[in-house]
Amino acid sequence: ENNGGFRRVEGRGRAGGRVIELRLTEIRRPLRRVRQNDPEKVKMLMESISKIGLQVPIDVLEVEGKYYGFSGCHRFEAHIRLGLPTIRCKVHKASKAILRLHMM
Ligand code: ADP
Repeated sequence: ENNGGFRRVEGRGRAGGRVIELRLTEIRRPLRRVRQNDPEKVKMLMESISKIGLQVPIDVLEVEGKYYGFSGCHRFEAHIRLGLPTIRCKVHKASKAILRLHMM
């Protein structure tokens, strides 16, 4: 499927979820307040991502049409700091109950 240049892979199973590019502004970050990023890690990721791009997508939950990031905090911050508009995400469809589990 050609999606305006964005890779879009439909898939299921343990590896789960389709991989799409989402705008950073579309991703809600329920874990941001509780976890602190390691600035050195973010710096190294910025260097690497600017050279070779994001090699492993971050995981997001899709709940009722909204996207919630629950991993990849350092990769997400590296994208913000690099001024990149989008980030490659693996999307896992989930219920509100599952979302609540991830927020605990
Ligand atoms: P995060 O909070 O983003 O998960 P970690 O430091 O725990 O940060 O993990 C960084 C992850 O980013 C690793 O799984 C690594 O494989 C992945 N990754 C994706 N793209 C890159 C890249 N270009 N350079 C380095 N690591 C990358």
